Amino acid sequence: MKSLWNDDEARALGQEPVALRVHTSRLLGRAPDLVLHGGGNTSVKATVTDFFGDPTEVLYVKGSGWDLATIEPAGFSPVRLETLLRMADLQTLSDSDMVREQRAALLDPYAPNPSVEAILHALIPFRFVDHTHTDAVVTVSNAPDGPERIRALYGDRVLVIPYVMPGFVLAREIRRLTRDVDWSRYEGMMLLHHGLFTWSDDAREAYERMIALVTLAEEHLAAEGAMDAPALAAAPVEAPPLELARIRRAVSRSAGHAVVARFSGSREAAGFASRSDVADLATRGPVTPDHVIRTKRIPVIIDDAPEAEVSAFVDAYRAYFARHDTGSLTCLEPSPRWAVWRDKGVIAFGTSAKAADQVADIARHTARCFQWGEALGGWTPLPEADIFEMEYWELEQAKLGKPSAPPPLQGKVALVTGAAGGIGRAIAERLRRDGAAVCALDLSEAVLGFERSADTMALVCDVTVGDAVQSAVEACVRRFGGLDVLVSNAGNFPPSEALDAIDDAAWQRCLDLNLTSHMKVMRAAVPFLELGIDPSVVVVASKNVPAPGPGAAAYSASKAALTQLSRVAALELAPKGVRVNMLHPDKVFDTGLWSDEKIRLRAAHYGLEVERYKRSNLLGVEVMSADVAALAAAMAGPTFRTTTGAQVPVDGGNDRVI
Ligand SMILES: [Zn+2]
Repeated sequence: MKSLWNDDEARALGQEPVALRVHTSRLLGRAPDLVLHGGGNTSVKATVTDFFGDPTEVLYVKGSGWDLATIEPAGFSPVRLETLLRMADLQTLSDSDMVREQRAALLDPYAPNPSVEAILHALIPFRFVDHTHTDAVVTVSNAPDGPERIRALYGDRVLVIPYVMPGFVLAREIRRLTRDVDWSRYEGMMLLHHGLFTWSDDAREAYERMIALVTLAEEHLAAEGAMDAPALAAAPVEAPPLELARIRRAVSRSAGHAVVARFSGSREAAGFASRSDVADLATRGPVTPDHVIRTKRIPVIIDDAPEAEVSAFVDAYRAYFARHDTGSLTCLEPSPRWAVWRDKGVIAFGTSAKAADQVADIARHTARCFQWGEALGGWTPLPEADIFEMEYWELEQAKLGKPSAPPPLQGKVALVTGAAGGIGRAIAERLRRDGAAVCALDLSEAVLGFERSADTMALVCDVTVGDAVQSAVEACVRRFGGLDVLVSNAGNFPPSEALDAIDDAAWQRCLDLNLTSHMKVMRAAVPFLELGIDPSVVVVASKNVPAPGPGAAAYSASKAALTQLSRVAALELAPKGVRVNMLHPDKVFDTGLWSDEKIRLRAAHYGLEVERYKRSNLLGVEVMSADVAALAAAMAGPTFRTTTGAQVPVDGGNDRVI
C-alpha cells in the first residue's frame, strides 16, 4: 500500500493542526481497504483559546456521521481533553453516559457527537492518532494463530491488545494495560479482531506509520499465497431477473417493508458464490464487529428456494437473539442484509440503492477477507457472543425507541414511462422524493437529464416496440432487484382533426402510443409486479375520457380504450395483489410542453384571457404538474392500499365529469 501524502496538497491546506488532520484523514478515507463507510476514526490534540481567552487542551476527534474520505474541519468535534482523561479513570460508566458527558465537554455545542473511541484517542499521548479497520491487518488477526502472527509481523513496534468491545470498557482496559507503558517506544497498537491505531506528533508520520504497518500485513498475505486465494469466475454472471425479484420479495417480506436489492455478478462475486465451501465460509462471522450494524453477523445463502431459505435465516436469527438476550433487549428486524446467491454472485439489500451499495461494498471486502483468511489456515472471526454484544449495544438499542417516519415509498422500485418532461417527469421526481428508486423511460433523450444517483436510472426507450419495453423493464429489475410501481404515462396529444379529415397513419400512431404501448408495458411489467411489494399500476389517462372534445377523436378514443384496458387490468390483477388505478388530468401548463405563445393562442381560440383559460374549471384553480404527481404518488402508495379500478379526475372540477 502506497502513501498518498503530497507535500503540495498539504502545504496548500496550511499548518493548522485541524487542517493537517483533515488532510491525512481524507488520505486514509480514500483507500477503501483501510476504511469503509464511516469505519475508522482520527484525532488531533491542540491547545485552543476558549471563549474567556483561556488556553484549553482539546481533542479534535472525528464526529459521528462523518466519513473520513470527505471529512471537513466541521466534522471534528472539539472535546476538552481533561474531561476525557478523567473519564478514563472511572471504574464504571455506561456508554450512554459516556456519550452524554462527551457532548457536555464539547467546546462547540453544535459539533457532532464525538466518536465513541474518543477516550481511547485521548489516552494516546501523541498529537495525531489514526485508526482504521484495515482489511489486511484484521484478516491476519482473524487467523487461528492470529495473535502470534501479528506479534511476529510487528515485533516490538506495536502494542497488541486482546479484543474488547469498543466504548468505555475498551478505553478503561487500554488505560489499565498501558499505565506503565512508554508510548514513545511504539508506533501503533493492534486491537485484535478490530483494527489498528498509529500515532505521532507529526501528521505525515502518523499516517505513514499506518501505511507501513498495513503494507507489512499485505506482504504477509502475499507471502502466504492468500492474496491469490479469492476465486474468480471465468466471466461475469447476469442475474435472471424473475429469480432476483423473487429473492427480493422474500427478503422484503421478512423485513416487513420493501427493500432495494443490488446484485453483483462480477467475476469476483460469482467466483466467491461458486466456491464449494461458500455456505460454511460465508457464515462464520464478519471481518470486524463494527460491520454487524450494517451487514448483520452473516449473510443468507440462496440456492433455489428463496422463500424457505430466507425464512430459515429469520428463524436462525431469532434463535441467535434468544441465545444471547439478557432479558431486557429488543430483537432487531431479523431480515438478511446480504445474500450469497450460489453460483451467481452477491446481493446487498437496503432501504435505498445507496444504502444497499454501502452494504455491497462491505460485502465485497468481506468476501475477499474470508478467502484470504481461509488461506491463512482457516477464517476464525470472533465468537457470536462478541458480535451480538456489538449488535445489541445499548447505544444501538437506544435508537430503536426514537420515532422515525420513513418516506412513504422507501425501498420501493418504480418505473415511469414518458418521463423526459411534463407530467411524467413531475411524477418521476415526486416518487423519488417519496423514497422510491426510479427508472425513467422516454423516447426522447431528454430523459437522460433525470436526476443521476444510485437510486435513479434513465433509459431511452420506444414504448411502442415490445422488445425495447421488455429490455427496459428487465434492466430496471436487474438494477434495483424488482418492480413495485408502474406509472404508465407515455402519450401525446395529436393535432386536431375533424372526423371527415382523419388521416389513417396519424390515427394509428395515436393508438399505438396512447393505447397499445400501455398494453406492451403492462405485459412486460406484470410478471415482476406480481413479485412486488404492495404492487401498483398508475395509468395516466385524461379528462377527455369522461369529457371528450370535438376534433380530438383519436386522442379521446385512445384514452378511453386505455381506461378500459386499465379496468380489465384491475380485474385480472386484483387476485395477484396488484392494484390498478387511473387518473384523469386536465391540461397542465407548467411543464415546458406549453409555450406562452401556445397558451395564448389556445386562450384566444376560446375567447378567454390567458389566466382565465388556465383556470377554466369549477374551482377556478390552475392544475399543476405537481398536483398530478401528488395523486400518482398517493395511488402508488399506502393511501390507496384498498383501492383498485378507480378513476380520479385532477381537473379543478368539471360539470361534464361530475
Ligand atoms: Zn474502531
